[in-house]
Amino acid sequence: MNDYLKLEGVHKSFGGTAVLDRIDLEIRQGELVTLLGPSGCGKSTLLRCIAGLTGLDSGRIVLEHNDLAKLPPRSREVGMVFQSYALFPNLTVFQNVEYGMKMRGMPKAVRRSRTEELLALVDLEAKVNAYPHALSGGQQQRVALARSLAVEPKVLLLDEPLSALDARIRKNLRTEIRNIQKRLNMTTLFVTHDQEEALILSDRVCLMNEGRIVQDGSPETMYTAPRTEFAARFMGSYN
Ligand code: ADP
Ligand code: MG
Repeated sequence: MNDYLKLEGVHKSFGGTAVLDRIDLEIRQGELVTLLGPSGCGKSTLLRCIAGLTGLDSGRIVLEHNDLAKLPPRSREVGMVFQSYALFPNLTVFQNVEYGMKMRGMPKAVRRSRTEELLALVDLEAKVNAYPHALSGGQQQRVALARSLAVEPKVLLLDEPLSALDARIRKNLRTEIRNIQKRLNMTTLFVTHDQEEALILSDRVCLMNEGRIVQDGSPETMYTAPRTEFAARFMGSYN
């Protein structure tokens, strides 16, 4: 198996409660895997562990043969987009996208051409000099996506990136995210609590509950062959 991102026995407790309970997960290069589950089941904590924003109690996270525990967050080659856009309010769209490249000391000409390329990719060339407050929620999320891609991450982590958007924009942007992900062949872990989103977007769905992955399979299998009562209910297979 050519697993690209591999989690082995990832365990994390807060105040004596296991929030991640020995999670095993393998993702192939270019795959889009959705972590689906109810609020509080540990999805964000899992992404934060991969990004290095939260430490593990035990277990291992390996990205392309590198043990991530040995790398500080900035060296992990992981891009992350949050539910709330988290753009720098005092920087323009251009400066937001450029930011990570600047931090890494990339030359100005490279930063400029790559930022322009990314803004074209997310269809926001016209907003290059705008400030975040002048953008809609959907536009801000596209900037956040471009910003996370700017440093050419090996893995993209998307933490409910569509949840704060209204229904029509959410549907457009989810299609767009999938198209971009395929075009770049970007290995992606997409978090949502919305089963429809998971079924439509994913190569594979991992259903989580109470810190564990309770079922892992194709969107079709998750829907037509839920293995537990919980999975059936959550996937909406009962009607
Ligand atoms: P999800 O993203 O699936 O909604 P989270 O990963 O945010 O879930 O949270 C999982 C559980 O861990 C929740 O019960 C939450 O309250 C708890 N938790 C998350 N972060 C912390 C923290 N820094 N300190 C204490 N408890 C936390
Ligand atoms: Mg969350």
